[in-house]
Amino acid sequence: MSHVEKLSIPCDAEERLQYIKRQFPAAIGPDLQHKWAGGRVNGLKKLNDIDAVAYNSNRNFINGAVTHLSPYLRHGCITLNESFTTIKTRFGRSAEKLLFEFAWRDYWRQVWFAEGNAIYSEMEPSKVDIGYAPLNDFVTKGNTGLPCMDGFVHELLDTGYMHNHARMWFASYVVHHLKIDWRAAADWFEAHLLDGDSASNHLSWQWVASTFSAKPYFFNKENLARFTGDKYCAGCTAACPFDASYEVLNERLFKAALLPTAKQYTLTPPAKHAISGVSGLAVFIHDEMLSAAHVLLMRQLPKIFVFDPQIHGEWSLNRLQFVADCLSEMEDVEVWLGDTYEVLTARGVGQVITQDTPNTKIKQRLMPFSPEWQPATKFAEVEISRQHLKRFSKYWEKVGPLMLGDGDFRKP
Ligand SMILES: Cc1cc2nc3c(=O)[nH]c(=O)nc-3n(C[C@H](O)[C@H](O)[C@H](O)COP(=O)(O)OP(=O)(O)OC[C@H]3O[C@@H](n4cnc5c(N)ncnc54)[C@H](O)[C@@H]3O)c2cc1C
Repeated sequence: MSHVEKLSIPCDAEERLQYIKRQFPAAIGPDLQHKWAGGRVNGLKKLNDIDAVAYNSNRNFINGAVTHLSPYLRHGCITLNESFTTIKTRFGRSAEKLLFEFAWRDYWRQVWFAEGNAIYSEMEPSKVDIGYAPLNDFVTKGNTGLPCMDGFVHELLDTGYMHNHARMWFASYVVHHLKIDWRAAADWFEAHLLDGDSASNHLSWQWVASTFSAKPYFFNKENLARFTGDKYCAGCTAACPFDASYEVLNERLFKAALLPTAKQYTLTPPAKHAISGVSGLAVFIHDEMLSAAHVLLMRQLPKIFVFDPQIHGEWSLNRLQFVADCLSEMEDVEVWLGDTYEVLTARGVGQVITQDTPNTKIKQRLMPFSPEWQPATKFAEVEISRQHLKRFSKYWEKVGPLMLGDGDFRKP
């Protein structure tokens, strides 16, 4: 039996940071920055601060009015539905762009629900020749010599955040210029993000690579310079690999795909025995439901959260601190460190109730405990077939009119 320990998360924010650092000595990276403090209260503050009109016009700029909601949505501190409704009510049609972006998060998640572990393998054959070079230190430490790419990586390592456009440029550079295995890069990337989420992350990498899109995503210097202003390009003396027309880059980067097959990766789930002879019932709080307002917290049952090395072992220090912030707001939740199976058996739990998730790592670990999966509220009350999940545009045909199409919203 491996070590299991009950944690006592301090109420004081500074003490909490230090406590988590002591509990997870192997966790990498700096402390969580104050502006990224976790929890529902901070998530709601960020939601209230949104300027959806500015977002509409400048979200693609690196210093645009983006929301920074993603870590709060990823961990369930606030829900996609309440964010959508709040913004739609407050801004009406001028928020259309932001509401559309919220749908992207739901779309990737729906694909994960439908496809399960297949999202970790290539969903389709790539449309161009992509490479499988190993991920190396000069990329992960931000030492490529390109101020833009190195700047993006340093921001990621320092804060746990990267702007969406920077994620696209960086992924494109890694996959199409360096010909690095997208899967290795995606795993590394996810481990450093405060909002790390296999659906949005791995499927976005595949969208860039062209294994889940009709064509590869690439960009040129003009595009990067436009949306980053003078930040990286002014004074840059590096030999710029992006300084060319799209035609030239297309010619330089891509050959037709040589192997019209989709590469598969295998995952081996840990085998655990079903529990028998133990009857305790508990609410299992997993890392997508970290909200003090979660409906399952109302249940008169023990509530248990586990920092499980098999699930959270690769997470950066600041993300573990973010999670601890969330947990500190949730009354009566026992927080444990150790293997989920061993924690639950040590607690005499035979069955768990929890929120449904597409995360197969969580699902597999709870299987021995006959889990009762409570569905989370759907983003759009509509059945979406696997065919409609092949592309966002098809998904949006179904979801868009339902979510945006009421008369008031459309009024000028
Ligand atoms: C290579 C790559 C990896 C990514 N990995 C992740 C990830 O691990 N976790 C994650 O949450 N997002 C991921 N994204 C999507 C997107 O970049 C982030 O959601 C967004 O940058 C988060 O910042 P924000 O909250 O300020 O976004 P905003 O631009 O303010 O958008 C508001 C919200 O809309 C949703 N959203 C916006 N754009 C996207 C998008 N392209 N895909 C999905 N949802 C979107 C997010 O929930 C976001 O919080 C990735 C994108 C790329 C290109």
